[in-house]
Amino acid sequence: MLWVKESNKKNALFVDIFKSNKLQRPVNFIESKACSPPRKSDTVALRKRKEGNELFGQREWAEAMEMYNESLCFAKNGSKHISLAYANRSSCFLNMKLYNECLIDIELAKEAGYPMDLMEKLNQRKEDCLKSIEKAAKSLQIFEPKLSYEADEKFPCMANVLKFEQGDDGDYALCAKEDIDVGQTIVVESAFVKCLLRYGRKCSICLKGNTNLVPCENCATAMFCSNECKVSFLHKYECGLRYSEDESLNGGILEAARAIILGVNAFTTVDQLMEFVEQTISSDPNELLDSLIDEQSKYRAFLKLPLANDDDDDIFIAIAYCTYKFILNIPGIKAIFESRKHRRFLMHFVTHCMKVTSKNSLQEVRVVRRKEYALVYTQTGAITKYLKHSCAPNATMSQTNGNLICVTVRPVKMGERLLISCYDMLLDSKETRQRQLWENKQFICQCTRCEGHTATLAQRKRIASDPDFHDIIFSYPITESDVDKLPQMIAKCEAVSRKYGDVIWCDEIGRVINIYIKLLNFRMSGLF
Ligand SMILES: [Zn+2]
Ligand SMILES: [Zn+2]
Ligand SMILES: [Zn+2]
Repeated sequence: MLWVKESNKKNALFVDIFKSNKLQRPVNFIESKACSPPRKSDTVALRKRKEGNELFGQREWAEAMEMYNESLCFAKNGSKHISLAYANRSSCFLNMKLYNECLIDIELAKEAGYPMDLMEKLNQRKEDCLKSIEKAAKSLQIFEPKLSYEADEKFPCMANVLKFEQGDDGDYALCAKEDIDVGQTIVVESAFVKCLLRYGRKCSICLKGNTNLVPCENCATAMFCSNECKVSFLHKYECGLRYSEDESLNGGILEAARAIILGVNAFTTVDQLMEFVEQTISSDPNELLDSLIDEQSKYRAFLKLPLANDDDDDIFIAIAYCTYKFILNIPGIKAIFESRKHRRFLMHFVTHCMKVTSKNSLQEVRVVRRKEYALVYTQTGAITKYLKHSCAPNATMSQTNGNLICVTVRPVKMGERLLISCYDMLLDSKETRQRQLWENKQFICQCTRCEGHTATLAQRKRIASDPDFHDIIFSYPITESDVDKLPQMIAKCEAVSRKYGDVIWCDEIGRVINIYIKLLNFRMSGLF
């Protein structure tokens, strides 16, 4: 069994373990970090809007928008702060050239009772926006990832040019059913479990950002991108939910809570859920997935992801225990896990989910105010497991707005595996790469590059003297002000990668692919 420490008394509740032993101290420590969730307050709403105005004055549009979003979250229902925050946010959208979003926000401000004496200003903004739409060849659009091929029937998150194939090690990996060109989007998976930590940046349900988010009417931490997200069953449980102001602790706990809520929702009764979870966890961890179509198949894939090996870590077990208590207090959950048997299951279930997320979740960390780092969200998908590592990758994995996206960066021949580099280390030496892989994944890489294979000197010279190669190397990095060059730069990288697709990995290829991946991430990150 994968369950954490069993108590000596066979059927004792997991809770009992904590009463008397050495875990008391770490539990106290975790509990000392708990906080009560923030409540709506017009005073805070006003303060946040003023902070937003300051950032706006510094032309930090995205960060000003985040503050206006927070202001919206805190403003009491019906308060004038709602319309004022929408109006200010419309100005951010205008400056970010997101004209449709700007117009929507102006309407939202009006609907929320924007003060008549300021209305002229708002109408003027609308006119400016309409003029900009006329002038602009096309208004900027938020990047929406889309598969470059038809979706696979059973695995709709992946292109139908991929298949699973078992390697010599017994592991399944994704491989190409036909030749795949460079620059093809072959996986777009909406992460099964995801969790927003930097409130006010994205939709609390689906993590969509840079859009006309509207606040939850009840809590001060949630916003929604659409009506569909607003009425999601998830928020019925999650409304007002927050554990700690410590973002990583909060994230770990809320991610586990979401995983449990998804499970509760996928089954009619808790006994069905129990049976499903126990059957899934005791089945062969290497078995191939049947599909990723419905909630249950996705849940199965999630539960079968590799587990963190934290059984003996007191802090981990203490967090699991605090998470269990926290989840049990969510309205609607306690009643479901009523009996001793069910609570015992929940305790183990929480621990399992935490081991999955702690091993597999990807986090987005952003620089805020140009200095401080903030954890924006965490998310866990199922398909990444099948993309194996190589220091000479032919694909790259990015994450954005709740999606995991895989794009080919070199031409892939029929039958070849899709390989990604787990870390941003394409330019690092073998020693550095191997150290990082060992320290983080206890993995010894035996890719062609690590084995010492490289292109011939003649091939390398040919690439180095290619004018496109020079263009790419010397135009990078590009800044936000010349994003117009982005499509052209991306096309150049693709052309070089395609042209030298038959050449084995070498430093010159590495430099181009490294820039190409950075540009793709830049494009996915937001507005280009
Ligand atoms: Zn949403
Ligand atoms: Zn809420
Ligand atoms: Zn390697």
